Amino acid sequence: MSALDELPLRDELRGAHPYGAPQLDVPVALNTNENPYPPSERVVRAVAVAAADAARTLNRYPDREAVALRADLAGYLSSDTGVELRPEQVWAANGSNEIMVQLLQAFGGPGRTALSFAPTYSMYPEYARDTHTRWVVGRRAADFTLDLPHALAAIEEHQPAVVLLASPNNPTGTALPLEDIAALAAAAPGMVVVDEAYGEFRRAGVPSAATLLPSSPRLVVTRTMSKAFAFAGGRLGYLAASPAVVDAVRIVRLPYHLSAITQSVARVALAHAPELLAAVAELRAERDRTVDWLRAIGLRAAESDANFVLFGTFEDRHVVWQGLLDRGVLIRETGPEGWLRVSIGTAAEMATFRTALEEVRR
Ligand code: PMP
Repeated sequence: MSALDELPLRDELRGAHPYGAPQLDVPVALNTNENPYPPSERVVRAVAVAAADAARTLNRYPDREAVALRADLAGYLSSDTGVELRPEQVWAANGSNEIMVQLLQAFGGPGRTALSFAPTYSMYPEYARDTHTRWVVGRRAADFTLDLPHALAAIEEHQPAVVLLASPNNPTGTALPLEDIAALAAAAPGMVVVDEAYGEFRRAGVPSAATLLPSSPRLVVTRTMSKAFAFAGGRLGYLAASPAVVDAVRIVRLPYHLSAITQSVARVALAHAPELLAAVAELRAERDRTVDWLRAIGLRAAESDANFVLFGTFEDRHVVWQGLLDRGVLIRETGPEGWLRVSIGTAAEMATFRTALEEVRR
């Protein structure tokens, strides 16, 4: 018995482990879908100035409503999606993880169900558990797209308060067609949340679900600055929805949840959006090259609209994962049995990955 077992922990948390990929000190870390490019010295200096300005009033609480930041986010998201979004339609929190928990706090809860379709982001069942929401998981089609008749039947059967759809999906990279999201939004009795954490990496011609917001009052699109913006350490996630959805989330948010430093530094990042997002095109191209290469060497690689690729399949994926790690390349052992996920790094990192994988397969 550990000391933890002796505590009066909630039953559903007994035996549970904290979520997270190994944070190992390796030469090539391609396991958490980060952007491999650190900010330029120019951005670093602007961040330092903003943090110092915020520091001068740290005796005061931050703006509870994060008004200036939400206006900047609305401006950015409007330009990325082509949908005109007002600040009242945008809400921000410490990463999109916190956004999701706030959504389930507001719309899930005891006696209510959250529904998703696997394989998908492995934090979803944890958000449900932590908000006492019943968790039901259907399946995706063999090519990781939605099986629409199955999804509609699951909605009919379970009457979920919240449907969670990642698009592009983690760990498969699959973007959902707008028609599928619209069909689910029309059928669902509750909220439909489209998690676009990887939205900026979508291929040309793939629209954001934000396009559906004007016609879908119960639709929510979530985004993060952790991936395309290269701002994972800054912790900033946000959502776009109707102003009423934002009002609902404001009821459950903790007062002053977003620190003055976070708000101010995130605004600096948004002001430097073109520079911070400059690598997105390159990462997309590197992703497409990675898919082509994996297929050329006889492996399977899932279609990806994200900054990672799910590939396989391997008889014993752990052996391959370990072999790569032994060569200094850390990827993620996740997804359906036999598959592995590699995040897209710099061209040099991907070259190291390719060499290591060739050696491991020999
Ligand atoms: N959604 C998906 C699909 C993700 O993959 C991640 C991060 N891995 C998140 C949400 C959460 O990201 P963050 O809290 O950094 O915004």
